[in-house]
Amino acid sequence: MTGTTKEQWLAIKNGDTDSDGRFFYAVMGSKRVCRPSCRKKSYDPKRIIVFDTLAEAAALGYTPCSRCHPELERWEGPKKQLASAAEEFIREHYTEKFSLTVLAEALHVDKSYLLRTFKEITGSTLLEYHNTVRCEAAKKLLTRPELTAAYIASAVGYVSASHFTQVFRRLTGKTPTQYRSDYMEGLDE
Ligand SMILES: [Zn+2]
Repeated sequence: MTGTTKEQWLAIKNGDTDSDGRFFYAVMGSKRVCRPSCRKKSYDPKRIIVFDTLAEAAALGYTPCSRCHPELERWEGPKKQLASAAEEFIREHYTEKFSLTVLAEALHVDKSYLLRTFKEITGSTLLEYHNTVRCEAAKKLLTRPELTAAYIASAVGYVSASHFTQVFRRLTGKTPTQYRSDYMEGLDE
């Protein structure tokens, strides 16, 4: 634990993400430790305490800031983090029926905020992403000739095979049968 060098202070003042991971800081009087890029500024540089490691800060009773998450290796801001968490949840549950309510509850956020943020960050809707993950899984299964399209539809979560075909075609430009025969032809080459 040290005082701040001019370089460190500038990194904190400018929210320099390149300095993230190189050191951590806290403001005297608070019990939160931050990465240099954390957006909560206008401190007196004399009140900044610098740590080389998070462990050092933790040993002195500082806990990770909930805005900049210094304990996470990669932190891209709360909106990106939320979108990534939504993608991860969907990838783990893609065979289940899509439910905005379940997803929002799992991520502890408001439903409309989740919808808006996901669209803003990824350019896609949650349902579209859910369908995309299912179709990626279906593509892998379609490379196995012993599996029927109806079986694959239900394996990736579609109740109706015709709905699966419709979604698959919209997302990939091919029907499952076309995708399979193109794949097989590719194998023959
Ligand atoms: Zn912070």
